Amino acid sequence: MSDHEETLRRMVDVQIARRGVRDAAVLDAMRAVARERFVPEGLVEFAFEDGPLPIEVGQTISQPYVVAAMVEAAEIGPGDHVLEVGAGSGYAAAVLGQVAGRVIAIERHGELARLARARMSALGYDNVDVREGDGTLGLPEEAPFDAILVAAGGSEVPETLKQQLRIGGRLVMPVGEPDVQTLCKVTRVAEDRFEEESLGAVTFVPLIGAHGRAEDGHRSASNHSPGASRKQTVPEMIAGAAEPLPDFDDPAFGRLFDRYADRRVVLLGEASHGTSEFYRARAAITRHLVEHYGFTIVAVEADWPDAATVDRYVRHREPRAGAEKPFERFPTWMWRNTDVQAFIHWLREHNAGIAERSRRAGFYGLDIYNMSASIGAVLDYLDRVDPEAAKVARERYGCLTPWQKNPATYGRAALSRGYAECEEAVIEQCQALLRKRLDYGKGDSDAFLDAAQNARLIASAERYYRIMYYGGAESWNLRDTHMFETLQHLLDAKGPDGAVSLTRTALHKMHKGL
Ligand code: SAM
Repeated sequence: MSDHEETLRRMVDVQIARRGVRDAAVLDAMRAVARERFVPEGLVEFAFEDGPLPIEVGQTISQPYVVAAMVEAAEIGPGDHVLEVGAGSGYAAAVLGQVAGRVIAIERHGELARLARARMSALGYDNVDVREGDGTLGLPEEAPFDAILVAAGGSEVPETLKQQLRIGGRLVMPVGEPDVQTLCKVTRVAEDRFEEESLGAVTFVPLIGAHGRAEDGHRSASNHSPGASRKQTVPEMIAGAAEPLPDFDDPAFGRLFDRYADRRVVLLGEASHGTSEFYRARAAITRHLVEHYGFTIVAVEADWPDAATVDRYVRHREPRAGAEKPFERFPTWMWRNTDVQAFIHWLREHNAGIAERSRRAGFYGLDIYNMSASIGAVLDYLDRVDPEAAKVARERYGCLTPWQKNPATYGRAALSRGYAECEEAVIEQCQALLRKRLDYGKGDSDAFLDAAQNARLIASAERYYRIMYYGGAESWNLRDTHMFETLQHLLDAKGPDGAVSLTRTALHKMHKGL
């Protein structure tokens, strides 16, 4: 199998078949059409991504899965006569050309129609005819059609198109608001009787034309009475977007996430700290990514020094003498619970079977709260590698000693004295340590990464507690920026192969913070 065939096979398996498209003819058609030939030159490398892509004239080529789902829903047979409205790049028309007898695709933009036509002839689709025009009018002279696919969203299904279906014919079209629609299937069951079915939420560019929306894409230009134009309720939208999941312990559960296997960072978040079910689901996904795709970084929204103790355990490194017990700070239930414990034991066992240390998956905290444990960790590290530097560090961190156990009061003290009490000292200490990267890093690079990250954490935390005293968004932004930077340091340290399963809501917050 060539690389190209393999890429298409993977795209179809991971993005389409695993989402529930079963029709073998449709899956074969999706494997047969060279999708990269339908995207603009600069976007060829993204042609097999799981999403729509921009094409010429500000339009889009639909997501592979959506094309497959629409073609499957239209139940097209080998001899069928099919109309597509919204040819765009011509990609869906080419897929239709694989399963139908004859396809006519209409596109309102002349430039797109020309490009699509050229692609059809270059690729030899002589049963696909691309025409320029307003597809909301259909093609009365070519009707009736066995199937009509509309690849742009309107507020209702145009009556003109329904009337061009033969009895038994199927029409599939996104219907709803400009920003979100429901994929509707209309079947003409008798001369004047149509059955409607809703297939889930989608988002398409607007259907613009005499029986579609006006040129601005918002107002309806049609005078026809609403058919499938009912606005979706939130539960309907959720039901449309949801995918059924098997049990967490079923191997099929993890496999559903294969579609993210080639990402460098996979974010597993939710709106709250979550239930036991959420923790178990998250662990099952992470286990799958670590076990089958070699992810080596599990980054969590937890304090760095606490996670570092767990990291030593899971990667079979010696525990750090004098390290505090991890996760004793409020809210202890967040990481100190039986679901996380089970995951940690699994990670240790998984790593035991990997001889090459750098391939073992680690457990890292991105958060900044445990300043006192971080101070302890930096001092302990320097005591071992550079006792002279440890003395200086002790003095510098001494500035924070009175507040170590209750750093929230530090902000008030710093404020009442009118200056940033310990800022200079902790920044100097962080810089001093990083300047020694080459010397110290020659020994145990994991230990250096740990110490450097603790020193960065102390500098961030000093600022955080000062700013927190004023309240407002800035302290959250500082914390989120710190988490983002920690993630970047981890990725740098682990090299190009380090892939991350990042848990909790971290990135959601990071976006707000950056
Ligand atoms: N099926 C296309 C593909 O595979 O590339 C994607 C189509 S894109 C999502 C929708 C297309 O519908 C756009 O190219 C847009 O110009 C076109 N369109 C919108 N209203 C139309 C109309 N009334 N008649 C024909 N084409 C229309």
